[in-house]
Amino acid sequence: MQELTHYINGAHVAGASGRFSNVYNPATGEVQAKVPLASADEMAQAVEIAAAAQVAWGAVNPQRRARVMMKFVDLLNRDMDALAEALSREHGKTLPDAQGDVQRGLEVVEYCIGAPQMLKGDFTDSAGPGIDMYSMRQALGVCAGITPFNFPAMIPMWMFAPAIVCGNAFILKPSERDPSVPLMLAELMEEAGLPKGVLQVVNGDKEAVDAILDHDVIQSIGFVGSTPIAEYIYGRGCSNGKRVQCFGGAKNHMIIMPDADMDQAADALIGAGYGAAGERCMAISVAVPVGDETADRLIEKLVPRIEKLKVGPYTSGQDVDYGPVVTAAAKDNILNLVQTGVDQGATLVVDGRDFSLQGYEDGFFVGPHLFDNVTPNMDIYTKEIFGPVLCTVRAGNYEEALGLAMDHEYGNGTAIFTRDGDAARDFANRINIGMVGINVPIPVPLAYHTFGGWKKSVFGDLNQHGPDAFKFYTRTKTVTARWPSGIKQGGEFNFKAMD
Ligand code: NAD
Repeated sequence: MQELTHYINGAHVAGASGRFSNVYNPATGEVQAKVPLASADEMAQAVEIAAAAQVAWGAVNPQRRARVMMKFVDLLNRDMDALAEALSREHGKTLPDAQGDVQRGLEVVEYCIGAPQMLKGDFTDSAGPGIDMYSMRQALGVCAGITPFNFPAMIPMWMFAPAIVCGNAFILKPSERDPSVPLMLAELMEEAGLPKGVLQVVNGDKEAVDAILDHDVIQSIGFVGSTPIAEYIYGRGCSNGKRVQCFGGAKNHMIIMPDADMDQAADALIGAGYGAAGERCMAISVAVPVGDETADRLIEKLVPRIEKLKVGPYTSGQDVDYGPVVTAAAKDNILNLVQTGVDQGATLVVDGRDFSLQGYEDGFFVGPHLFDNVTPNMDIYTKEIFGPVLCTVRAGNYEEALGLAMDHEYGNGTAIFTRDGDAARDFANRINIGMVGINVPIPVPLAYHTFGGWKKSVFGDLNQHGPDAFKFYTRTKTVTARWPSGIKQGGEFNFKAMD
């Protein structure tokens, strides 16, 4: 069986802790590789190498650092198919979806090519007699990132590309469920010209994460994953004096107004609810039709579309709409929640519980489910299911629909489908959720905007990518300089205005 490695100081390094985790092929249920789980000592060695490498890298001028990103973009395009294949093999998502995962990461790398512009400071000429004032954005030093299984290419790149182009060294602790693509990305960064030790991949679980949280040299931590772990990492990281940003779980509502184009809304819900088997933090997991008539029309449009969904392994190419979920435990969790929904009185309109795929009986496939008459007290409404399960909550009117999304503890993304500009504007203005779609079901902002939710979907102040990333991965230093006269005239003892 394949034994994966860490990527430390420019080389694949075998794990030394003796602890491993299984990496599955979710389509077949087979263990296809073992990934080493780093000890705190192994993490400390990587941090030491990173700290040494960062000194020279931080002194490279921004334009040259940006050129590494330019080359990296070329290499990502060159290896797109191989990256997507490796990603699908471990994650289970379809090949076109895996390419999208790489592509959305690549776009942030492209944005990072603008680093010389983003890192320019402010300058005030003659802030006082002979006095100039200027600010600069300087690298933090060694940064770390802890990433989830569901976007093993995109989210690592969202973190390490801005961190590195700002002059930091970066330690990536990817998900232990699909670690191969992050290792490939680290190799490609080096092929693009990044010096050894600036980007390292240390595989692991809680022990490696805790080693990151407690290491004095690490200055910042980026985390994306489930809310309980986000909360834990934010608390412990901050109390250790680090700069931390954590992005957590989601329960994204889509409001369907009576005037919406119902075919368009149904198509959008199919892609956003069932794409990637629902394993997206921006998936729509709750449909909120306004009025019973809207609800009935929507369900009528959804059912035949759901029944036509093709579920299968990525190796079936374009013929598959979504693949398996990531592990047997994830599958069990989804099916248990579905059962809870039935027990608590929701109507299971499309029941995928008996789904089985010939030839792939041991794979982690979950058939599509559709619930109607879900109410806010049910577990399937309050909890993140992270599977191909769409819940319909009927709202009596627009205010009730808005209130549902407002009152949910998560606030990652949301959407409204309507032809009414006034309703759309009102929704966008009043909703307490970070990313809003108007007739767009998955409103993931592009690289030059920022990505982030509100409420329990985020812990920290700055969003991912866009201008916020350059703020998160640098600190500001402001210099007040006086040249050349005045100082020779003797000391000044009072704290004065500069006039
Ligand atoms: P997860 O929280 O299980 O794992 C995320 C990372 O944390 C992994 O690297 C894992 O090794 C580590 N980890 C797990 N348990 C830990 C512990 N006890 N202590 C320390 N570290 C630990 O999340 P996941 O299942 O990989 O990813 C799915 C979750 O991520 C969903 O909740 C999804 O909504 C969320 N997500 C959020 C966003 C966003 O931007 N808000 C994006 C993608 C995914």
